[in-house]
Amino acid sequence: MEDLEVELERARDLDVSELADAIETIGFECTRCGACCKSEEDDPHTATVFPDEVRNLQATGSDGEADERDWRDVARPMPYGLDEDGAGETFEWALQTDSCGDCTFYEEDEDGTGSCSVHGSRPLICQTYPFSVALGGTSQPMGEAVDEAGMVRAHECEGLGRDISREDAESLASALKERAVRELEEAIDVRDSYEPANPGPGETVVHDSEGAKRPDGSTVGE
Ligand code: SF4
Repeated sequence: MEDLEVELERARDLDVSELADAIETIGFECTRCGACCKSEEDDPHTATVFPDEVRNLQATGSDGEADERDWRDVARPMPYGLDEDGAGETFEWALQTDSCGDCTFYEEDEDGTGSCSVHGSRPLICQTYPFSVALGGTSQPMGEAVDEAGMVRAHECEGLGRDISREDAESLASALKERAVRELEEAIDVRDSYEPANPGPGETVVHDSEGAKRPDGSTVGE
């Protein structure tokens, strides 16, 4: 069995109750500071979003009503591996950013309290911030890992160390396991379906688990 398949089996075997124990030990409560939704210094916000999550966000209005958005209103090619003009091949989608480099769904009121306009539909990476699991092939959120308990890592966040209810810890743990499984399934599908797209000058191709796509989400070759 190849490495990613081994890690996927380990992800599927994760015990949600043990993950919740670890999250309770570390402690967390969101302070709504917005740090995980905003650009960091000069670097635009980057958060991985899966293709089905993009479609879900396309259909989610800020008031919770269906409100079709363009693919590009939700996601952009993950910039890693692209040239300075954003051209080339990349292997993930990132949440779209606004002119300040913040997540396009981030809102801030006058006193600086942040909120997510798609809270109920936010991607798994957002639901599980600032945690990750210690498995190869899974993504690590922004910031250094600053705490660890069992299989759970916690990354820089001012909400760490605060009391969390068992119910919230279990809900977070469940999403964390789901994210690890999804990330590894996605990575395996991308690996198995990858064929060089040889984009021309100025062109960008995103390889995801569904194949090669253009930045507008359409399939290359169609
Ligand atoms: S989707 Fe919501 S929670 Fe996720 S980065 Fe954007 S504003 Fe933050």
